[in-house]
Amino acid sequence: MKSYLEMTKEERSAEFESIKAQFEHLKTLKLSLDMSRGKPGADDLDLSNEMLKMPNETTGFVGEDGVDTRNYGLLDGIKEAKRLFAEILEMPEETIIAGGNSSLTMMFDTIAQGMIKGLGDKPWIFDEKRKFLCPAPGYDRHFAITEYFGFELITIPVDENGPDMDMVEEYVKDSSVKGIWCVPKYSNPNGTTYSDEVVRRFANLKPAAKDFHIMWDNAYVVHDLKDDGDKLLNLYDECLKAGSEDMPIFFASTSKVTLPGAGIACMAGSPKTLAMIKERMKFQVIGPDKVNQLRHTAFLPDLKAVKEQMRKHAEIIRPKFEAVLNEFDATLNGLDIAKWTKPNGGYFISLNVMEGCAKRVGELCKELGLVLTKVGATYPYGKDPHNSNIRIAPTYPSAEDINTAAKVLSVAVRYAALEKLI
Ligand code: PLP
Repeated sequence: MKSYLEMTKEERSAEFESIKAQFEHLKTLKLSLDMSRGKPGADDLDLSNEMLKMPNETTGFVGEDGVDTRNYGLLDGIKEAKRLFAEILEMPEETIIAGGNSSLTMMFDTIAQGMIKGLGDKPWIFDEKRKFLCPAPGYDRHFAITEYFGFELITIPVDENGPDMDMVEEYVKDSSVKGIWCVPKYSNPNGTTYSDEVVRRFANLKPAAKDFHIMWDNAYVVHDLKDDGDKLLNLYDECLKAGSEDMPIFFASTSKVTLPGAGIACMAGSPKTLAMIKERMKFQVIGPDKVNQLRHTAFLPDLKAVKEQMRKHAEIIRPKFEAVLNEFDATLNGLDIAKWTKPNGGYFISLNVMEGCAKRVGELCKELGLVLTKVGATYPYGKDPHNSNIRIAPTYPSAEDINTAAKVLSVAVRYAALEKLI
């Protein structure tokens, strides 16, 4: 297909008429589709049904620590859960806290602790100019936490290697900059994995603030869509080499391995970091839901079992990604109005439409019954400076619906571009 930018006025008008006809036809289908959040589909959730039968009287309720998981205790989780996350994150078991049902809660609590009690220096609440670095496009809920606590959010551009490290190195010279959000593997929404050089540069940062922390959210650490998934350099190892092991705080969860909202989460860090976190936690909780931790480790005892579970997820999810990418390749390629990522894992495709058109694409999709992530949400304050980025979450619609959803998107992208060009 000829580039929309090179078309004559007449060619563009004819194309617009054809797209409008497709739009009107899709409208008659009265669709109700949701690609707004990175939620697993019902078939993904079914993969964990067996887990819900455990633990029981046959499997027993006492874990390796010798503690009855039905009772209070074990602030940092059961041994089996810590060992599992240690394998997943490739970090020593003693660096791990196995927690409740959400890593996002652990991140929120960590920032709240920095605000009220401090994370290695005086509480952040006393620094009225506090700032946080936000690689964007990125995860809206990360940005929202630091916005909630009154940080100025600073956008750091990202490319296929990760955040712009020249900019990060420059910003950390300011002692009001207290941290950075990172999704280092299959990032939300670009699906990219940080390069070795980016990871090393993180380990070697020399921030002016002694309580600067890297919030290393490895939410998609085992979420490969293909056998030869991306490899992420181990930040903890690099930090140990650089003597900066107190700087990163690691997070992960089984939300998209087993059940979001009913999974288990973890955080990890150096001995000094963990001591600081536990000092707060001991006032906050007597122990996590250890029954759920035991349920998980009975179902997924080791990394091998996790990888097998993720292979089953990939079989469900990969065709959904392919449906969207095939539709884009077939209908948008060569038009010069959109670019999109082709990730090897994770939960998202990042679509960049013609500058100034993303909001309109969102409106058009809504008119056709397809809900997208709020356009702009992938940037701090919900404001995409180019009004161009759209996060696509292909996992939730059923295998039957995904093709229609991809068609709707493609028609909306072309509609919005032609409207602007004409
Ligand atoms: N971190 C990232 C990057 C995510 O994309 C998500 C969910 O979409 C979460 C964290 C939420 O994790 P949890 O369910 O463990 O709170």
